Amino acid sequence: MSIIDGKQIARKVRGEVAEHAAALSARGVVPGLTVILAGEDPASEIYVRNKNRAAERAGIDGHTIRLPDDVSYERLCDEVDALNADPSVHGILIQLPLPSGITREQERAVLGRVNPDKDVDGFHPVNLGRLVAGEPGFVACTPSGCMRLLAEAGVDPSGKRAVVIGRSTIVGKPMALLLLQAHATVTVCHSRTPDLRAEVRNADIVVAAVGRAGLVRGDWIKPGAAVIDVGINRNADGKLCGDVAFSEVVEVAGHVTPVPGGVGPMTIAYLLHNVCVAAERTLS
Ligand code: NDP
Repeated sequence: MSIIDGKQIARKVRGEVAEHAAALSARGVVPGLTVILAGEDPASEIYVRNKNRAAERAGIDGHTIRLPDDVSYERLCDEVDALNADPSVHGILIQLPLPSGITREQERAVLGRVNPDKDVDGFHPVNLGRLVAGEPGFVACTPSGCMRLLAEAGVDPSGKRAVVIGRSTIVGKPMALLLLQAHATVTVCHSRTPDLRAEVRNADIVVAAVGRAGLVRGDWIKPGAAVIDVGINRNADGKLCGDVAFSEVVEVAGHVTPVPGGVGPMTIAYLLHNVCVAAERTLS
């Protein structure tokens, strides 16, 4: 059994990104990422600070546009339009959630307004479509990070049975598509799956992206399976934990990611990776 060290693998990815950014800079293009942060959500503040710090360390020009809590939909659209038109901005990230005054429909419209070639989050419907069609585009950072964790652990999905628990647009669905692209036989489970345990029990690869502490138990896991835990939860003691009952699963699985220190660090690393890819594309 091995514990997949996401911190160490993310460090490796960030090192690759820094080399890529330096090579691009030498060719006259400094990769640029701009985050739109509206409102004062404390968790978003921390995420954005961490993203900017990681960007700076990798040689990426990071900026944040701060907008007030009562920002209008029109103002958000204007900001996105300006970034779309700015050639020094290769990646645009709209930090979610947007303030409560912005409706879900407006939020979707703002995300959809980002130029798909600057959509380094991979949330734009055009990029989701490209993923379905197997065309080059931007893939959501968390699922990309999970694929890299599997690769680094020496787990090739080809011919394996994979179960993804969760079907969100930002994690579950793109994760399932990436595993399918890598030739796994993929089952996607969700809240209406009648016998989750039986599905997981058959899987060589399990990806849990639910948001329920300790949902996946040790006796659900096929011995030797690879288990990737995307969930971020707080347990009864307020400690950070995943969707997987780690102390049980670690006894059965072939590979397992911890929380914290598993998938989490990979998400920012792949965001920075996508910014460099976006910058590179402006050269061709
Ligand atoms: P969503 O809430 O959008 O999706 C959760 C999914 O889990 C849904 O598809 C839901 O099913 C399914 N689900 C809920 N309860 C059950 C259940 N009892 N059995 C099976 N399936 C269930 O969450 P996200 O995809 O955005 O995030 C999932 C988790 O990953 C969260 O903990 C989040 O914090 C974490 N996360 C971590 C990241 C990282 O960088 N490590 C990045 C992004 C997310 P249904 O569709 O039927 O409602």
